[in-house]
Amino acid sequence: MADVIVIGAGLAGLNCAGLLHAHGLDVEVVEASDGVGGRVRTDVVDGFRLDRGFQVLFDGYPEAQRALDLDALDLKAFLPGADIWWDGRMRTIGHPLRDPRSIPQAARAGLGGPADIKAAAKWLREARPLATATAPEITADERLRQLGFSEPVREHLLRPLYAGVFLDASLNVSSHLIDQVFSQMASGRTVVPARGMGAIGEQLAARLPEGSIQLGEHVEQLGKDSVTLASGATLTAKHAIVVAAGTVDTCALAGVAAPEPRGSTCLWFDAIAAPAGKRIVLDGDQRGPVNNVAVMSAVAPSYAPPGRSLIAASCVGLPPGDDAELEAAARAQLTAWFGSRVHHWRLLRIDRIEWAQHAQPPGSLGSGARWLRDGIVLSGDGTENASIDGALRSGRRAADLVLAAKVRQAQ
Ligand SMILES: Cc1cc2nc3c(=O)[nH]c(=O)nc-3n(C[C@H](O)[C@H](O)[C@H](O)COP(=O)(O)OP(=O)(O)OC[C@H]3O[C@@H](n4cnc5c(N)ncnc54)[C@H](O)[C@@H]3O)c2cc1C
Repeated sequence: MADVIVIGAGLAGLNCAGLLHAHGLDVEVVEASDGVGGRVRTDVVDGFRLDRGFQVLFDGYPEAQRALDLDALDLKAFLPGADIWWDGRMRTIGHPLRDPRSIPQAARAGLGGPADIKAAAKWLREARPLATATAPEITADERLRQLGFSEPVREHLLRPLYAGVFLDASLNVSSHLIDQVFSQMASGRTVVPARGMGAIGEQLAARLPEGSIQLGEHVEQLGKDSVTLASGATLTAKHAIVVAAGTVDTCALAGVAAPEPRGSTCLWFDAIAAPAGKRIVLDGDQRGPVNNVAVMSAVAPSYAPPGRSLIAASCVGLPPGDDAELEAAARAQLTAWFGSRVHHWRLLRIDRIEWAQHAQPPGSLGSGARWLRDGIVLSGDGTENASIDGALRSGRRAADLVLAAKVRQAQ
């Protein structure tokens, strides 16, 4: 019998378990898959580090600063700004708030004028963390119009950028969320750990005593103070069970309705030469199927073997057709961007992830980990927002709930 059973070794479950362990509780983590990290994992394929879908960390995430040893992750940063393919030409946009020279550069590229500088300054003044957001909640799409961005900046820069963040090209996402992400992106860097995104979960797992994570064990059922595994075995918890099984499985175990999924697809290519630098490359035309390209090895050389480049070509959602059709469409699109060298790229893998995030329209954001009933806490990004920050925070809040209940029991 453990003090606490945590279902799911994603970032929420691992953060929760680590905090409870640090408070002296005996925690058992039960994980259905063969490794830790949940949706944030990295596989080494032919010497390349392939994250499971294109993912990044913002080092301005408050919860990442709180929960992780960021220095130990050896973070490698993207350059701020973006390269944008729009109307037959690649245009580079720097970060207007960090590099004033990028303002005339953006104007020359047809992407930004005085109205956009005014809108960005207004956004920076008004954007705040979710917890303190007070403005009426509208969609992110409406928010960008309300701020006064010009049509070219909205449609060719901000839409593909935030479509890639929220996996929703319509930007039917809470304005409170886009405000928070904008301020996190503006104040910090976009990074990946040198060893791949999977290093985040591995760091959290390393804080737990050996033997406290059971891999390959699927929880089938929640009891009052116990869980039943697929093998039929039962595990009992003295204080609480924390369900941090990802949005869809947590909802299934808890018997509550799940939100809609938001999918993501990534084509990973091996190339001899890098087609771009350390900036994200956006599909300003919004024709697809690829929404954004990142040369991972330019940002973090350890993502590829010496002399090779690793390219992530990421699509919003799940493009129709089979892998061969998707590969052909992506190569045709990227040949227009980077030239005929794209024909020589070697496809390493295609990741199609149906449940990358959940839909986050206005009014849908979670208010944090909560008690489902006596002894059972619901946690995971679904209780906050679909991000590494949201998952880590939900794990901390779940740990706080369990610790507070234990104190009450002892009184
Ligand atoms: C392709 C992609 C791109 C993304 N991009 C970003 C990004 O750039 N930045 C960002 O901040 N966030 C991004 N996210 C979102 C972020 O990864 C998630 O919000 C976060 O990882 C969710 O963590 P979690 O612990 O709540 O859930 P999960 O990571 O889903 O963890 C749940 C765990 O529970 C296990 N489990 C499920 N059911 C059971 C069961 N019955 N029994 C036992 N175990 C079970 C699962 O195997 C899993 O390991 C992205 C996600 C994806 C997939």
